[in-house]
Amino acid sequence: MSYYDQEAIEKFRLSGKILKNSRDELKSLIRENMLIIDICEKAESLIKEKGGEPAFPCNVSVNEITAHYTSPPKDKTRIPEKSLVKIDMGVHLDGYVTDTAFTICFNPEHIFMVSAAQEGLQAAIETIHSGISTSKIGEIIEKTIRNRGFRPISNLTGHSVGRYLIHAGTSIPNIKQFSFTKIKEGQVFAIEPFVTLPEAAGRVENHPKKTIFRLTKNKKIKNPYSQKLINYIDKKFKTLPFSERWLKGIVPENKHNQAFKNLINSKIISGYPVLIEASKKIVAQAEHTVIIEKDGCRVLT
Ligand code: MN
Ligand code: MN
Repeated sequence: MSYYDQEAIEKFRLSGKILKNSRDELKSLIRENMLIIDICEKAESLIKEKGGEPAFPCNVSVNEITAHYTSPPKDKTRIPEKSLVKIDMGVHLDGYVTDTAFTICFNPEHIFMVSAAQEGLQAAIETIHSGISTSKIGEIIEKTIRNRGFRPISNLTGHSVGRYLIHAGTSIPNIKQFSFTKIKEGQVFAIEPFVTLPEAAGRVENHPKKTIFRLTKNKKIKNPYSQKLINYIDKKFKTLPFSERWLKGIVPENKHNQAFKNLINSKIISGYPVLIEASKKIVAQAEHTVIIEKDGCRVLT
């Protein structure tokens, strides 16, 4: 059984190529003290310049912030000195999603943690093939990370991706976990180990802050400005995640805040909480998207 036809596979490949080139360009620009909003906007404009669409807002997660932070509008936050910065980007091309992440380390003390994440990812890529169980991949990731003296984040996983889907139903754990789920030929997966210090809790918790949203219930609303936002979100992002930054200029500026709040209060859109390491220890991440082949995989990003 094949998951995708030739045309779809070609779109995944092109989506991955756009993402790879955007990531490599962005990587060389990141500096301490930069405004995070500049990084997010640069990432997203690189993707568009190359003919793709961001599959989700660029995540810039610093130190113990593990994932799901993107700049809100007018964000004044900067990259702290000596920080560990995870940049997570996604592209969709006609809906076909690819997803990649890397960590930049401004503190030489922590470079080995960054390598542990990369090596965990590399070990998974070298082992994955059709027929292997997801728990085996988790076991290999965990072993690689622990052998280097670090700890994987246990409650974040890799995931299959699909058309207009960032999580298409199958998870790849970053720890040994009992499961009968087998990887199948033609499936497309984002593999993403997160690594923290050995003495850390090794899991993430929700932070009250939310900066990334998605349409969850497309229903009519009285406020015409709120309705205008819904129509735009539905047309432009469908059910993919978006940033409030992306809604600039859709309704008059003095109507935006209330119109946006209405969407949250009426549960038409919902936010993803920012994720933070439970013991507030720093976290590194590495991620690639791969397509599964009979004897291995092909890295798309
Ligand atoms: Mn990602
Ligand atoms: Mn991912």
